[in-house]
Amino acid sequence: MSIKKLNQIYEGKAKKVFATDDPSFYIVEYKDDATAFNGLKHGTISGKGVINNKMSNAMFSLLEKNGVKTHFVEQLSDRETVVKAVKIVPLEIIIRNVAAGSFSKRYGVEEGRELKCPTLEFSLKDDALNDPLINDSHILALGVATEKELDDIRKMAFKVNDVLKEFFASIGVKLIDFKIEAGRLPNGEIILADEISPDTCRFWDAKTNEKLDKDRFRRDLGGVEEAYQEIFSRINNK
Ligand code: UDP
Repeated sequence: MSIKKLNQIYEGKAKKVFATDDPSFYIVEYKDDATAFNGLKHGTISGKGVINNKMSNAMFSLLEKNGVKTHFVEQLSDRETVVKAVKIVPLEIIIRNVAAGSFSKRYGVEEGRELKCPTLEFSLKDDALNDPLINDSHILALGVATEKELDDIRKMAFKVNDVLKEFFASIGVKLIDFKIEAGRLPNGEIILADEISPDTCRFWDAKTNEKLDKDRFRRDLGGVEEAYQEIFSRINNK
């Protein structure tokens, strides 16, 4: 695919997004920068951008094979990927299989408790407000998404969970929870966007419960680079 990278249109905490000479496509570039607690904690995780780029693309390809439409088009280099240009729905879409993180804190449930069924929750993507939890009724009232879009997002999120849970189980990893984002194509269709990586998922080793994700950075547990590498090599050796 011959596509020209043009001006940067957005810089997030972990990625930059560039316009291209084709308005239907963007190029995303993954950085090694890491932040936590809404930007209060900063650092770099050496090699993270390369792993997150390649891992996200592998996960998007797997999901596409299983009938989930995603923004993934083509990997250009270690850190760069061509994606479909979408407007991001300003929601963090979170699925949980096991209690952890803010869910454990909010409901006073010990980390690691298996939930009776997967749960779905939304946060409004708004750094100034600290990404507050938001319910379906609020989303509709504020016009963040329509009823039809919410339906599509819910179905997509649970489908992503089914596919990823099974995949990670096959490489000895428990998928504890994850965050995805949805994008709107110009025709209004909702597709999966953003990334799927140890930055946005909690992965625990199935045997030892060792954390293989960004919690190692958030909680200063050490072995951060090694954890990203471990997940990545299990995926590659599958
Ligand atoms: N998550 C994310 N970005 C965010 C908040 C959460 O990718 O801004 C992911 C996080 O990595 C975890 C899941 O969403 O896999 C649930 O996170 P939680 O709500 O427990 O928040 P945290 O404890 O990370 O603040």
